[in-house]
Amino acid sequence: MSPVPAQLPAQIVDDPIAVRAALLDWYDLHRRVLAWRPGPEAPRPDPYGVWLSEVMLQQTTTPHATPYFKAFTQRWPTVSDLAAAADEDVMAAWAGLGYYARARNLLACARAVAGEHGGVFPETEAGLLALPGVGAYTAAAVAAIAFGRAANVVDGNVERVMARLFAVETPLPAARPDLRRLAGSLVAEDRPGDWAQALMDLGATVCRPGRPLCERCPLTVWCAAFQSGVPERFPLKVRKADRPRRHGTAWVLRDGEGRVALVRRPAKGLLGGMLGLPTSDWTAAAGEGPAPVPAPADWRDAGAVEHVFTHFALTLEVRAGEAQPGVGEGNFVWTLMEDALAALPTVFRKALQRALA
Ligand code: SF4
Repeated sequence: MSPVPAQLPAQIVDDPIAVRAALLDWYDLHRRVLAWRPGPEAPRPDPYGVWLSEVMLQQTTTPHATPYFKAFTQRWPTVSDLAAAADEDVMAAWAGLGYYARARNLLACARAVAGEHGGVFPETEAGLLALPGVGAYTAAAVAAIAFGRAANVVDGNVERVMARLFAVETPLPAARPDLRRLAGSLVAEDRPGDWAQALMDLGATVCRPGRPLCERCPLTVWCAAFQSGVPERFPLKVRKADRPRRHGTAWVLRDGEGRVALVRRPAKGLLGGMLGLPTSDWTAAAGEGPAPVPAPADWRDAGAVEHVFTHFALTLEVRAGEAQPGVGEGNFVWTLMEDALAALPTVFRKALQRALA
């Protein structure tokens, strides 16, 4: 185990081995059944599945990521299969998972593994970190879970458990380096993959955001937040400033053959490379005058949709119209409605559904 920071509560300093044993015993009984996780009797999980699931799970929930994981692994069972896929097929399959730069990085990484490593993931954190788009968290998770390396895997769940276990009074995000050090103090060579997943599972199912279910937790005797009587006070957080809001218009242009006019967004920038509805620029102020329409039609107001991106919230006015035969034929990617609903990023799917309502 790495050196224990001086500020750890005495009971943890005295017995980190007991903490680990208690949580690993709990994990053996209560581990979650997940699409990317083999059963307890199986050999180590496939690195491709671990990597793919960890990329998908960044910023989205397990229930949301699960059908995507199943669809990806059914269609592209190995990293080499994924590397050989067409960009637009992967982008379309990713639609709805958000953070589309991640889909491009996913492909770049798969192609590096297939092209430079013979389709085999590197086993060390350093080797994994050298792959395109693989950050510290993903490298640690794959190294620990797929290759049994004693890596310190710290996601939001683990941060929350550490903040409570040690009653860390520094608010997030400033507390992050301390939380990472505290998590590292409990990592050991014995069962590192199970340890990482046990912490994740505890954070996801027991030491949840909001009110933790301490009555089900195997760590209460060591937990400083539990002993304080107000475990939900941790982790402390600095209140985030409200996101800025932007405004724009999206056009839903349909033809008489059940198709809708889409455009391919520029490769760089927000939702880059994805199919989308034609839109105006997204500006800070609402009502900056009527935006130029993408094609002549009898446009009607179909209401508005709201969508929240990482750095701003968007109000998108939706306008719907029927295309005259031949209008804008070469300017758009005319796509059958059901295919568009499956392939569009969430913000555009919402706008399309709004127009159809
Ligand atoms: Fe979280 Fe409660 Fe367990 Fe402490 S005792 S780690 S607050 S669930």
